[in-house]
Amino acid sequence: MEYWSIGVSAMMKGDDMSQNFKTVDQLDLKDKRVFTRVDFNVPLSEGKVADPTRIEAALPTIQYALDQGARLILASHLGRPKGKRIPAMSLDPVRRALAELLEKPVKMAQDCVGPEVEAMADALKPGEVLLLENLRFHEEEQKNDPDFAKALARLADVYVNDAFGTAHRAHASTAGMAAFVAEKGGGFLLKRECEYLGKVLADPDRPLLAVLGGAKVSDKITVIRNLLQLVDGIMIGGAMAYTFLRAQGGKTGNSLVEEEHLSLAKELLQQADERKVTFLLPVDHVVAEQPEEGSISSTVQGDIPDGKMGLDIGPETIALFTEEIKKAKTIFWNGPMGVFEVAPFDKGTMAVAAALAESTAVTIVGGGDSVAAVKRSGYADAISHVSTGGGASLEFLEGKTLPGLAALMQ
Ligand code: AMP
Repeated sequence: MEYWSIGVSAMMKGDDMSQNFKTVDQLDLKDKRVFTRVDFNVPLSEGKVADPTRIEAALPTIQYALDQGARLILASHLGRPKGKRIPAMSLDPVRRALAELLEKPVKMAQDCVGPEVEAMADALKPGEVLLLENLRFHEEEQKNDPDFAKALARLADVYVNDAFGTAHRAHASTAGMAAFVAEKGGGFLLKRECEYLGKVLADPDRPLLAVLGGAKVSDKITVIRNLLQLVDGIMIGGAMAYTFLRAQGGKTGNSLVEEEHLSLAKELLQQADERKVTFLLPVDHVVAEQPEEGSISSTVQGDIPDGKMGLDIGPETIALFTEEIKKAKTIFWNGPMGVFEVAPFDKGTMAVAAALAESTAVTIVGGGDSVAAVKRSGYADAISHVSTGGGASLEFLEGKTLPGLAALMQ
């Protein structure tokens, strides 16, 4: 069995362990209307695509389908129009960017369901592409309304999901419509995500290390709990670290601490101890009164002085974390080590990005902020896998069944 299928099976937990989803290269696409759910939720600026990364990530599946003679229908959401038709959230700028990347025309439908769209889909010739208008112009999309799901399914002979970023959502286009299309499978991006994240869950080269940061422990409780069953080591930076340091009896000044989660933090520390998981917290900190550009900052060891906030890991912690990263064979990283948006509190995050890039381990980065940090550091190409789904990658590692994947297995 391949890593990804082991991972997905492990994720299915009590369900039939032999269940799996087909990938696009196992489906007959020739002359078929191939409805592909992609994640084209890209940033726009002045009516143009500001960052085409998500479009590029879907190209292998798109190109493969076209090479096979598919009549390709692409569907995505963009932004949060909340069921309203908002012109600034039209996918038309994406159509232009995609046409440039594919070097061929891409047709645009004015909606994503209805007789006109069905007629356009029926008229498609093999090798032609039709992009549907924003799925979330209809509130039924996020409600996973069965009639809306059926209306989408009427456009499809084959259903392909390549939108990992929304695979943790049970929406009509990511889950509901799959029940109404006989032939279905995952795209290459979805497969790659499952391969790498599945390897963390099921068959990691050890030592397996998790590096977690970001703002809140509360956002990551379930993932920490699940990772504690799997990892050999866990390192925590960012504001999250202060809740753990306080739980250990340290002084944290004005640092962000989730008082209501102190007992949970203690419990997690105890669990790590019982399971003999190395649990590393910062030993020194870059502190200031406020996380603002130009704030006077200093480095302190141990306790944070009154009136100051811990805003980044300090140099000793960077050295400690870097040593641990060097020893690991598989590393998952989510969340920045400090307020990386504001200099000089970005050093810890950049140092972790550099250490991951230099490591020979399988390195996986998930989550919007850590992905942004890795890109800014210039080391993104040296990371084995930069996940396209922040929330989805965390839910995958929490051991949850992602609705978008489960729908492909029915
Ligand atoms: P998350 O979305 O949970 O990954 O959190 C990312 C956010 O955490 C970023 O906006 C960081 O600025 C913030 N953050 C990281 N470390 C700290 C810290 N020590 N104090 C305050 N905010 C932080």
